[in-house]
Amino acid sequence: MLAKSRATATVSKRPSQKGRQNGREPLPVAVLGATGTVGQRFIQLLEEHPWFHVSEVMASDQSAGKSYAEAVGARWKLTTRIPESVARLKVRGPGAALKSSILFSALDASVAGELEERYARAGHLVSSNSRNHRLDPLVPLVIPEVNRDHIELLDRQKFGGGGILTNPNCSAIVLVMALAPLHREFGVESLIVTTFQATSGAGYPGVPSLDILGNVIPYIPGEEPKMEAETNKILGRLGARGIDSAGIAVSASCHRVPVLDGHLMAISVKLGRKTSLKLLLAALRGFRPLRRMMLPSAPEEPIQIRDEEDRPQPRLDLDRASGMGITLGRVRPCPVLDWKFDALGHNTIRGAAGAAILNAELLAHAGRI
Ligand code: NAP
Repeated sequence: MLAKSRATATVSKRPSQKGRQNGREPLPVAVLGATGTVGQRFIQLLEEHPWFHVSEVMASDQSAGKSYAEAVGARWKLTTRIPESVARLKVRGPGAALKSSILFSALDASVAGELEERYARAGHLVSSNSRNHRLDPLVPLVIPEVNRDHIELLDRQKFGGGGILTNPNCSAIVLVMALAPLHREFGVESLIVTTFQATSGAGYPGVPSLDILGNVIPYIPGEEPKMEAETNKILGRLGARGIDSAGIAVSASCHRVPVLDGHLMAISVKLGRKTSLKLLLAALRGFRPLRRMMLPSAPEEPIQIRDEEDRPQPRLDLDRASGMGITLGRVRPCPVLDWKFDALGHNTIRGAAGAAILNAELLAHAGRI
């Protein structure tokens, strides 16, 4: 069942098998932007998914009309093969009529806004990775372990049956998963986060090799404001006019580093209530909010804490829980704020395709699909 998915590590094609939903056949789904970095992850993770199967793929005009295998060609960068059932699918062009009720979107942000809305208006439920709608007041920005009640915003959207649901930016999701148990137990007042983000986060071909090899680039366009705003939306409360911000002061500094996959970040937090290291670790370790829901992509242990002084590391810790778990380490007092630690997550799995699939599983579990 498991297969090698990256040259450097083992990732299962599907996070786990927890059976078909109510004995039903897998639901046909479509992947928008199926030929890109995140699109390929969707194809890989959905290959043996018990609830969903890929029956349609869509990409730009340059891919439209070709078979998926032909359109992706040498751009397929995963170490698993293109699933046979997808390889022969004909790639649909932007805006083509689709039959699937769920559309997973990995569209380039230059087109995602308009195309996702068009599909939602046509009655589809779009589970999107793109940044375009994340901060719209009536669009849920969801991490199922953290704010699954926010899916109720879907009922306030005006798409006439369809809807748009988003998952966070690939670095924001790692940060917020680490913060969520602390915010729940002690309240997070402010934080400083410095990221070390993988090159795959820039899509393909991404940053030119001559710019990134042997180098660190201390700027990722748009990333810092995204981390600051998305954190406050996800940890905010559902209110009458959308989501009331959590009001946390967030200072983010984002760096691109020559690592293939995996976003590592150093986080310092100031808490609303003083606590001990023991209680802090207990809050992080006890964080299992989806334990009884049996969602196929949900990790048993969303946060794992490493005790070694030199972990987490992208090469060693990235694929824990099939890329859906985040790993924390170096939890220690901070002489400036209260506590500091490092966090690591897989940017194209937990930070992108896996997150959107888990969101769709949540909707199915909630009877919305
Ligand atoms: P990518 O590798 O550049 O892929 C972009 C995809 O969009 C391709 O399938 C491309 O199709 C398609 N596309 C481009 N222009 C189009 C058009 N006019 N009409 C229809 N389809 C079009 O980008 P990516 O890294 O996968 O990112 C995809 C989205 O996910 C972006 O919005 C990104 O911000 C977000 N995201 C990425 C990551 C990550 O770690 N990479 C993480 C979280 C979120 P063709 O192949 O036919 O050109």
